[in-house]
Amino acid sequence: MSGILFVISAPSGGGKSTIAAAIRQRVEGLGYSISHTTRKPRSDEQDGVDYHFVDEKTFTQMIDGGAFLEWARVYDHLYGTSLSGIRELMASGRDILLDVDVQGGRNIKTRFPESILIFLVPPSLIVLEQRLRKRGTDDEAVIRGRMEQAADDIRACAGYDYIVVNDRLEKAIDETQSIIISGRCLTHRQLPQIKRMFDFLSD
Ligand code: ADP
Ligand code: 5GP
Repeated sequence: MSGILFVISAPSGGGKSTIAAAIRQRVEGLGYSISHTTRKPRSDEQDGVDYHFVDEKTFTQMIDGGAFLEWARVYDHLYGTSLSGIRELMASGRDILLDVDVQGGRNIKTRFPESILIFLVPPSLIVLEQRLRKRGTDDEAVIRGRMEQAADDIRACAGYDYIVVNDRLEKAIDETQSIIISGRCLTHRQLPQIKRMFDFLSD
């Protein structure tokens, strides 16, 4: 059976990177993919670690070559999840946790209806803006652009399978972890293994 694709989305500053990193520490056996982007690296970012940083020409060639599971233009830059690696991980039964914007989430759900989509909602727009500022990675114009987009992003939560309010970080991490564990415990996912444990169930 193929692995489960878990997707986390949120408006920028909503806590995706923070929560995904904590989940990877806590939950065993979660694969991930390093996205490609045409955005320039921030001072603390490394090529091949945070993203594969590429130019528009390379990214467009990858789109034309069918290299992406999904891609989207987000805040004037292109972002995409490459297919290579993901297919292999899923076929080997490994679960995957992806952090993508709301367009990516929608596209993944269409392509993989069994994927489990988790949306992180900030406690308020004011808190979201404070967190973006405190993060200190974006200049004023970028923050303004991301806040303009935030309401539309949050509206997309209605199409997700689960919503986690990211007020207290520990609580939000716990809730996200619970969703992942619940996904793994779904009957149709457990049944093949249970049948191997109890011969009489296979009749
Ligand atoms: P995203 O990846 O969605 O853009 P980040 O994970 O970078 O968001 O989070 C934005 C900022 O908010 C970071 O500085 C992070 O440390 C902080 N942050 C995230 N969640 C919380 C929380 N529950 N309480 C306080 N600060 C938070
Ligand atoms: P940032 O520039 O802050 O790293 O990310 C901006 C937005 O792009 C975030 O909402 C993030 O989730 C999204 N993003 C990152 N990688 C991908 C990807 O591979 N596909 C899509 N669709 N969005 C992505």
